[in-house]
Amino acid sequence: MSFQNTLAYAQEQDQADTLRHFREQFHIPQHNGKDTVYLCGNSLGLQPKSARVAVEEEMVKWAELGVEGHFVGDTPWFTYHAALAGPTARVVGAKPQEVVVMNQLTVNLHLMLVSFYRPQGKRFKILTEAGAFPSDQYALESQVKFHGYAPEEAIIEVAPRAGEHTLRTEDIVQIIQQHGEELALVMMGGVNYYTGQVFDMAAITQAAHAVGALCGFDLAHAAGNVTLRLHDWDVDFAVWCTYKYLNSGPGGTSGVFVHERYAEDASLPRFAGWWGHDQSVRFQMKKGFIPMPGAEGWQLSNSQILPMAVHKASLQLFDEAGMNNLRAKSEKLTGYLEFLIKELNQPKEALEVITPEDPSARGCQLSLLVHQNGRQLFETLMANGFILDWREPNVIRVAPTPLYNTFEDVYRFGQFLAAHFQK
Ligand SMILES: *Cc1c(COP(=O)(O)O)cnc(C)c1O
Repeated sequence: MSFQNTLAYAQEQDQADTLRHFREQFHIPQHNGKDTVYLCGNSLGLQPKSARVAVEEEMVKWAELGVEGHFVGDTPWFTYHAALAGPTARVVGAKPQEVVVMNQLTVNLHLMLVSFYRPQGKRFKILTEAGAFPSDQYALESQVKFHGYAPEEAIIEVAPRAGEHTLRTEDIVQIIQQHGEELALVMMGGVNYYTGQVFDMAAITQAAHAVGALCGFDLAHAAGNVTLRLHDWDVDFAVWCTYKYLNSGPGGTSGVFVHERYAEDASLPRFAGWWGHDQSVRFQMKKGFIPMPGAEGWQLSNSQILPMAVHKASLQLFDEAGMNNLRAKSEKLTGYLEFLIKELNQPKEALEVITPEDPSARGCQLSLLVHQNGRQLFETLMANGFILDWREPNVIRVAPTPLYNTFEDVYRFGQFLAAHFQK
């Protein structure tokens, strides 16, 4: 792809972008009366204008109908989650029966670990990526302790080779093979939150299964960002939040994938609640848990309608745009960002992109390792209407998203960096 470092070029790309009208469907935060350059959808996606309408609809329904809202209207609260299964399945490459929306991410990770981390005899270890998101580390540590193991013994971390920032699939596979019969579970991010690296989930799942282990992914940074084919990749389970690339609001609801081979498997241990109980007899309020088939059988509580209404509105935009179209634009947008950073011509000692160069090994985010005064650069950017995020010790994460970012956003960011490094 031949990019150009000019405003005219960026604006031409925006004109030619068939997804450009989606930006108007979002509220763009303002800075001095102008749109910010919002490159932080990896942390909190922007608000779709339709979200407020969707929440208001439910508020009106609650006001007018009270408890009756559970059973009337287009989307009765009783089965509200079911309306999200189709669009969710399309985002993560699953069958509708394999997904459910409920709770929040870390809660769901624990629920999945209850069912899919079942250490036995010498098969008790979990393999994960070094430097995983802290909540995932805490979840894994507390789960292995819950089963009576020491985290130092039970958790194996795969780290980058010396002098490298990202993991090699061959290393992950080799360590899986090395631990073989001791491995109960492989559980890692689909996209590493810090480096933006996309892991080869198909290869990792295959390697885990080959040694008799199960395999699950935290897709917090993957869902709505990269192409996922969870069913075809044969992944056992996955979890994700909806407030990052899925634009469903702070602390929003979360998604879960359970492969269909477990749909009717009543032998799996699980922590049960009434909303996972067979819907047709749920209100008989009887003893004896009978799980709903599929992922729905992991639900505990009745649906959180307000965050789910936001999510439903947001997923509608993903359906309208299509994940394939979004991904195609995303590769180009991030490619443009990478081009502009290379144009800065900075030595590696000053500025380094630690995200993989191969587009298939990254999503929209590039992580910039700023060796000197990174924090200061970050703060200057923020003070000038560029919204990004900072990760200790010295990384600025930049995430242009295809739904609401423009080539001009990326160009303006490049211009700002150019001025900064020329000083
Ligand atoms: C964002 C993120 C979380 C956050 O967990 P919550 O339970 O939603 O607060 C956890 N894990 C990963 C990998 C994340 O990126």
